[in-house]
Amino acid sequence: MTCQDFLDDIDLSALQTLEEGEDARLRAHAAGCEDCRTRLLASEAMVSTLGLTVSVARAPRALRSAVLDAVRAAPVAGSAQRSSPAPVPLSGGRSRRWASRYGSLAAALLVAPLAGSLLWNARLQGQVNDLKQLQRQVTELQQETAQIQRQNDGLVLFSVPSAIKADFQPVTESVAARGAATWSPDRNKCYVRFDQLPKPSDGQSYRLWYVVDNNRVVDAGVLNPDDEGRADATIDTSRWRGKAYEMVLRLEYRPSDAEAKALLTAILSRPQ
Ligand SMILES: [Zn+2]
Repeated sequence: MTCQDFLDDIDLSALQTLEEGEDARLRAHAAGCEDCRTRLLASEAMVSTLGLTVSVARAPRALRSAVLDAVRAAPVAGSAQRSSPAPVPLSGGRSRRWASRYGSLAAALLVAPLAGSLLWNARLQGQVNDLKQLQRQVTELQQETAQIQRQNDGLVLFSVPSAIKADFQPVTESVAARGAATWSPDRNKCYVRFDQLPKPSDGQSYRLWYVVDNNRVVDAGVLNPDDEGRADATIDTSRWRGKAYEMVLRLEYRPSDAEAKALLTAILSRPQ
């Protein structure tokens, strides 16, 4: 092997794309030629910087063979008519050698982007998971903030002298849950709060209703108790014109089950 032959193949060797026999001959030359040894080290150093993005791996033999076969079977430019694209095998030492060389390189390049895209996918997946985690934390924070806001509203309403207050009473003795309602006609808000609500079973949810002057029934929405059975809600009362509002909490099968038995009731009445 001459130094020129060595230079022709040095990068392919560093990329681990040469056939093992060729690679051994190349390295045997480097062992006895200081210049080429230095060049090989430099080439390997260059390839190792590629390793910062993808790891260099020897192309699988099957892939290498498939690519090499494809390269050898490819028509040589200008030697085949468009109408008869029969493959013309490359022949002759130099062109076969070039085909082999660049076929090997093509095989390596096919493997490298694959490894790179797997790595990229793994990184993206990690970032997506981080974002999902962050989104969950933001949602929890928003829920906590909303709850604190409602509790503040409730405290403020409770402290308003004109506020109308009522405790929820259990409909049957077996109900351990308790609750309270505070309505401020001045501030157009009603705050309700419950404690010790048992965790609803699957398909069930707590829903609050109110009955206006023993007549019209209004759905005030679903209540989701926390782990300690606490739940609260603020109701907009800017359209409340009635005299008495009977608040009713039911445990219902979703979506809506008006026949469900009442658990707790409270009556808010305007002063006479
Ligand atoms: Zn040399």
